[in-house]
Amino acid sequence: MQSKPLILPLANTFWQKLLNLAALFLGLVIILILAVTAFVNPVIFCFFLVHGFVSIFWHSSMLHRYGAHGQFTFTNKKVEQVCYVMTWLSMGPSYLHAYGYALLHLAHHKFSDQEKDIHSPCILQDVFYLMLHTRNVYNQLIVEGKNITNSEFKIIVEEYRQKHGKDIPHWSLDWVADHVMTKIGFGIIFLSIYLLCGATWYMYLFLWPTQFLMGSVQGALVNWFGHHTGFRNYDTDDESRNTPLLNILLGGEVNQNNHHHNPDKANFGEKLHEFDWIYWILRIFHKAKIIVLKSPQP
Ligand SMILES: [Zn+2]
Ligand SMILES: [Zn+2]
Repeated sequence: MQSKPLILPLANTFWQKLLNLAALFLGLVIILILAVTAFVNPVIFCFFLVHGFVSIFWHSSMLHRYGAHGQFTFTNKKVEQVCYVMTWLSMGPSYLHAYGYALLHLAHHKFSDQEKDIHSPCILQDVFYLMLHTRNVYNQLIVEGKNITNSEFKIIVEEYRQKHGKDIPHWSLDWVADHVMTKIGFGIIFLSIYLLCGATWYMYLFLWPTQFLMGSVQGALVNWFGHHTGFRNYDTDDESRNTPLLNILLGGEVNQNNHHHNPDKANFGEKLHEFDWIYWILRIFHKAKIIVLKSPQP
């Protein structure tokens, strides 16, 4: 296998390097504040952690594994609707329109780390611009809906239809879930919880905005580290990597090298340190006949 560096040396400009350092510093400050909060205000600490874990579970299961890759099907339409509402409620203000998410993500797989890749750190070399650019393309896709003008996205829609025998999920309430007023509403609910739990100023300043942007932050961490830092099991044509240290937080999502090697496989972890806890919860759902994993792994 062609050897690649553990950390991809990106040819950043001075400003890109500065912005990435600022993002790293901000991340470390948030971790420090969270650690302090564990002692000062355990309720806010638990709220933050529970929200983070529940959000990544539904984000990964419904938007990524189900919506974009069709790795499982539902045994019952009503159960699909319940899971959809769970995804919406758990991601709250950072909920992402399933159709736009799937299109963006399938384009990422198709052009992984090439010039047309919408969220690759190899192409968009500062993390803030990476998030902003992804958001802009996503917004455009949402506005266009099923009347997409871009020919490459049209091909992706058709490829999905042929592969799965159905259209990319387009849930009818997504326009409400992704609406700015809904997001503001969730933000106010989160603020009220902070107020009721007697949060301190630095929690409002650092933890509340992170919770507001939870889905986007998790997506940025997966895309950045999963294509920048870590080990490779497979000689894929891209820069994807497995970043074991982030697996607990991101439920196997950050095993991007395994995932890009076989996007249809529901289990993103192949070794013990790549443990994909989201997959094992989905295995329980499969055993309980809530879903049917297309290629159940032992
Ligand atoms: Zn990727
Ligand atoms: Zn994927």
